[in-house]
Amino acid sequence: MFITLEGPEGAGKSTIITKLVHDMEAEGIHVLATREPGGIDIAEKIRKIILDKHHTMMDARTEALLYAAARRQHLVEKVLPALQKGIVVLCDRFIDSSLAYQGYARGLGIDEVLAINEFAVDGAMPDLTIYLDIDPKTGLERIAQSPEREVNRLDLETAEFHSKVREGYRLLLKRFPERITPIDASGPIEDVYRKVKKKIDEKLNL
Ligand code: C5P
Repeated sequence: MFITLEGPEGAGKSTIITKLVHDMEAEGIHVLATREPGGIDIAEKIRKIILDKHHTMMDARTEALLYAAARRQHLVEKVLPALQKGIVVLCDRFIDSSLAYQGYARGLGIDEVLAINEFAVDGAMPDLTIYLDIDPKTGLERIAQSPEREVNRLDLETAEFHSKVREGYRLLLKRFPERITPIDASGPIEDVYRKVKKKIDEKLNL
């Protein structure tokens, strides 16, 4: 089972994934948590290039292609082998991030970015995508309160860009309603977690 978590900055994806791993392992489920861009050496190196705050000249298409390249390598090196062993893979971001950020917010076009990503994933799509919905202002405030998070190039984007990311995700919800489940992430993290866990349990038939 391939499950992806999506959402804007500060939606709580990484906290929720950590809790999911803890609880699912306690239930005897074999689970692997990973993240994009990154998760393996080649992709972590690509992540550093994309997110380097000095790379202010990076072209939007270059950025989209680098994300797709990192995605491909992470998929073949880590995600697919785990899925073949029957492991539940929980991935922090996947194809929908590229569609919302590069496709919609950067204006490259959702269909255009989908095309390069279809080439990259070659048919491997998530069984379930949880979209944590939060207004960008609240999300960015949460990030500001977590000092351990390193500043990256995207943090330098305008509030308008982050609003467009949310609009992009909302368009994706309409386009892929059977795959993507939206969950309101504005409340306390425990409440958000409970809703996410319930949805995953349903999908796993627990
Ligand atoms: O989720 P995480 O904080 O690890 O993402 C790192 C950064 O990369 C974030 O600032 C996110 O907005 C950005 N990103 C992006 N386009 C993607 C995926 C992530 O701009 N396709």
